[in-house]
Amino acid sequence: MTSQTYDVIIIGAGIVGAACLDECARAGLRTVVVEANMIGGGATAAGMGHLVVMDDSEAQFALTHYSQRLWQEMSAELPESVEYDSCGTIWVATDDIEMQEVRRKEEYYSSRGVSVEVLDARSLIDAEPNLRKEVIGGLRIPSDSVIYPPAAARFLVQRARSRGAVVLVGSSVRSIDDGAISLEDGSKLSGSLVVNATGSWSSLLTPGIDVKKRKGHLLITDRYPNFARHQLVELGYLKSAHSMTSESVAFNVQPRKTGQLLIGSSRQFGVETSEVEPSILARMLERAREYLPGLGKLSSVRAWTGFRAATPDKLPLIGPHPEVNKLYLATGHEGLGITTSLATARLLVDQIIQRQPVIPIAPYLPERTIQATGHA
Ligand SMILES: Cc1cc2nc3c(=O)[nH]c(=O)nc-3n(C[C@H](O)[C@H](O)[C@H](O)COP(=O)(O)OP(=O)(O)OC[C@H]3O[C@@H](n4cnc5c(N)ncnc54)[C@H](O)[C@@H]3O)c2cc1C
Repeated sequence: MTSQTYDVIIIGAGIVGAACLDECARAGLRTVVVEANMIGGGATAAGMGHLVVMDDSEAQFALTHYSQRLWQEMSAELPESVEYDSCGTIWVATDDIEMQEVRRKEEYYSSRGVSVEVLDARSLIDAEPNLRKEVIGGLRIPSDSVIYPPAAARFLVQRARSRGAVVLVGSSVRSIDDGAISLEDGSKLSGSLVVNATGSWSSLLTPGIDVKKRKGHLLITDRYPNFARHQLVELGYLKSAHSMTSESVAFNVQPRKTGQLLIGSSRQFGVETSEVEPSILARMLERAREYLPGLGKLSSVRAWTGFRAATPDKLPLIGPHPEVNKLYLATGHEGLGITTSLATARLLVDQIIQRQPVIPIAPYLPERTIQATGHA
């Protein structure tokens, strides 16, 4: 039995837990993070690391925009291993309907202070010569960028440690009870409050929260510098991300600083096994080849899967659990947790120390989704 008492106990050291740890330490809170496996080894290791401002809803825009600004502010401090690359995004249009969406996005982003550029077919091919020639235009968002997420999680944990935070790796949490946690080895830690930041595992420790696993596949190629210069995403990606059906794939390709290409992505509900499914991978690659035919000649190095933590309204849960004493949630970030981790940490600590948040917090409060379950 451990008698150590903390202000905050964070469970999970993915990018979200790591960012929360760093922000708690920055605020002077005595904080510990407890991680069952390795820092940044869950969805954080599986993700693409695209730091992207999204416009599905005003709340999603506010969170992604705020967080991207925090990443930009931190970028000078990030070590080389984080591979921060401000390559920008191009949303690619293949027909008139998608071009209308380009114009809608242009108006949406520019009216909210994000610089964007509409590309016609020729300027798109000039920017990305490997795209197939039938593309008709696109929208470039120069302020989007890319990182290597596990290295970013390690950086945040290390920085928190240098500010006095405690890091316990290799300890699995069995249960949460009134500001305390019990570990699998029988020991306990107590604190003023506990933060569940265990991503797609979060409903195991906190039953009753509506966070479901959404499986994704990715593949990485060998090194082909300059094959793509921006993160390239089809406008149909939005349909895939929105779809609540069991399976979807979309063209989403990212150039890495190493010269490799990361090819995504797929979304599946109701699949619990982590193995790579050849049929999904084949559909995903076929979709990518429709946009970048030359991909067919490149060699791949590895494919893998990961689980996004999905909520019904596609917004994360950040704040106190409405029914469980001394429990906060920082989970449910679906396909945007790398992007939104830093803003999540700010909004969490704003609530803990009662600081004025920079953006309205209400859309992310857990009370909006949790069913009355009466569990402890
Ligand atoms: C294929 C794919 C592509 C993606 N692409 C992007 C992208 O381009 N941009 C973007 O912003 N986001 C992307 N995401 C989403 C992003 O990866 C996640 O939202 C983010 O990593 C979630 O971080 P997390 O810290 O909440 O969860 P995780 O990284 O899963 O961390 C949770 C941690 O909790 C630990 N844990 C679990 N249970 C316990 C326990 N009982 N005790 C102790 N520790 C425990 C786990 O070991 C794990 O380390 C993608 C995701 C996938 C799957």
